[in-house]
Amino acid sequence: MSESPFLNQLATELSERESKSLYRRRRVLDSPQGARVMCNGCEVLNFCSNDYLGLANHPSVVAAAQQGAAEWGVGSGAAHLVAGHFTPQHTLEERFAAFSGKPAAILLSTGFMANLAVIPALLGRGDAVFADKLNHASLNDACQLARADFKRFAHNDVAQLERLLAQSDAKRKLIAVDAVFSMDGDIAPLAQYLALAEQYDALLYIDDAHGFGVLGEGRGTLAELGLDSPRIIYMATLGKAAGVAGAYIAAEQVVIDYLINTARSYIYTTAAPPLLACALHASLDVIEHDKARRERLLSHIRYFKQFFATELVDAPCELLPSDTAIQPLIVKDNATAVALSQALLDAGLLVAAIRPPTVATPRLRVTLSAAHSDDDVKLLCREIKRVLMAAEQG
Ligand SMILES: *Cc1c(COP(=O)(O)O)cnc(C)c1O
Repeated sequence: MSESPFLNQLATELSERESKSLYRRRRVLDSPQGARVMCNGCEVLNFCSNDYLGLANHPSVVAAAQQGAAEWGVGSGAAHLVAGHFTPQHTLEERFAAFSGKPAAILLSTGFMANLAVIPALLGRGDAVFADKLNHASLNDACQLARADFKRFAHNDVAQLERLLAQSDAKRKLIAVDAVFSMDGDIAPLAQYLALAEQYDALLYIDDAHGFGVLGEGRGTLAELGLDSPRIIYMATLGKAAGVAGAYIAAEQVVIDYLINTARSYIYTTAAPPLLACALHASLDVIEHDKARRERLLSHIRYFKQFFATELVDAPCELLPSDTAIQPLIVKDNATAVALSQALLDAGLLVAAIRPPTVATPRLRVTLSAAHSDDDVKLLCREIKRVLMAAEQG
């Protein structure tokens, strides 16, 4: 025990977490991201990255980053509004706007910062934001930071959202949702949300961290669902399927101009290195032209779901209905989630156990990638079946 009660309190809280199987430790990877990674000195098959298209270590993307460093150096040296806005970033914004079918786009350093940029810039006291209860943590924090009335509705509950909108007398209204839920893999009913946005004169903010690159021929969830409206503000993150880092927001020109002028997490931060924009140009080339990659991922998703539907109907777990790369396997408690994840790791498979407070119900979160081979996915299925059977027999 130390002399500081403050420090002692921290230590006590951590040991409480430990006793509830909620203590978090980082794994140190000693290789690039990919289907196989070196983890604690062993090679393992990786089923927990969000590198859905296998672009994080793609040769043409890596080469573009190297070329970008040679041409533009390493650091941006300033914020975008000062002296840190470079040609590859500017042209990338134009490409992303066109790719999303929007008049304009803006790049941010991370998806977390994009959410923190948009919501507090657009809303303040007297306004209201309507948010799904399962939205990503960064979206929740952004809503809180905005100081607007923060109204949360049950997951995908269109009727409850409508009641909240009908009761609201806020000046500005924004509906803010994940398009693909990061821990559940399901897709929000965006067409219904858009109809409500029109009916109640709201804007609709969509966080497509897990749809971009994967759904809608790579254009994301809006393209998948065939939705388009000036009321929609679209955000995609670029550290997942795009394999690099960052995020972009695509919207009406007036929205983008407003963000450039008022969004604090855009204005008061050093711009990301321009070499990342160079890498993202190459990544977007792959997303636009390499259809086979996306098709391989979709075929893995179909195989995995089919395996559960046929081979694991009676298993002591529930595979949530998801058609995306995120396949969550709900298990009975935290300790089971941790034990199953450890048993899979012992067999050379990395599958994350996700526990409260990240989610309400503990689960294994399997993510599939175009980087995986058919054999990788078959092995995963076989091993999950084996550890589930072994766990059942105690
Ligand atoms: C990962 C994620 C973010 C944050 O994006 P980063 O670029 O990793 O900061 C935001 N929203 C959702 C839904 C995410 O899954």
